[in-house]
Amino acid sequence: MPEPPPVNVKADGHIHTRMCNHARGTMQQYVESALALGLHQITFLEHLEIGIRYDHRTWLRDEDFDVFFCEGKKLAEKYRDQILIRLGLEVGLNLQAMDAIRQRLTDYPWDTIGLSYHFYYHNGRHYNMVSRRHENLAALAEIGQDSVISDYFAGLIHGLQSLPSSVVCHLDAVLRHLPHRRFNQSHWLQIDTLLALMNEKGTALEVNTSGFAIRNEPYPCKRIIRSAIASGIPLVAGSDAHRPEDVGRFFDRLPQWLQPESVT
Ligand SMILES: [Zn+2]
Ligand SMILES: [Zn+2]
Repeated sequence: MPEPPPVNVKADGHIHTRMCNHARGTMQQYVESALALGLHQITFLEHLEIGIRYDHRTWLRDEDFDVFFCEGKKLAEKYRDQILIRLGLEVGLNLQAMDAIRQRLTDYPWDTIGLSYHFYYHNGRHYNMVSRRHENLAALAEIGQDSVISDYFAGLIHGLQSLPSSVVCHLDAVLRHLPHRRFNQSHWLQIDTLLALMNEKGTALEVNTSGFAIRNEPYPCKRIIRSAIASGIPLVAGSDAHRPEDVGRFFDRLPQWLQPESVT
């Protein structure tokens, strides 16, 4: 008998909506998609970014949060007998705006807070570390990919220390568009520090299945997930759906992928 997977594949912990300006579909459409798949639980985890200087908004505007929260609560009530609907934020780090971020997290009683780090600050503006757009990749390459990666993990460590975080999202997504880049020894030490801190704080690790479409494994990679499992860090599956049809994507691969013998 194979062991049960260490993650609940009937719960999708990371779903966006069209409110973030780079996804499509209403909240209701995502719920319907989850029901069609037979999921028991979904968590809307919408983008909160504060003070980001970037030419394209990929997060909610101030006035969207009320709509997001109220519509989410309405749907949770409507579908309460069929699926548990949770509401949360995917908080993007901005080291220049930590107080403002902390303050904003108290505006609503969110069920969960996901910690992410998308935008790298350099010379007065931000560059998106998880974008494939040339201007981002070129700027980050010029700064130096190893330094960007070090700063990325240092930022996450700082974020975890200073913000209430239920789950760390797509932990190694800084490599998303750097397929040939490998972590160096000091990056691995930072990852160990991050995992130790998560363990201490009871923060879960997201197994972000959007990675299967890009590199045939989730974010983060097997080595990091193996360390997390070994130290008892809980795992949360998240599709990072930006389209209703992406809810629960690749979850069927997780039980096999997470089997102990294949976690090598
Ligand atoms: Zn997004
Ligand atoms: Zn993200």
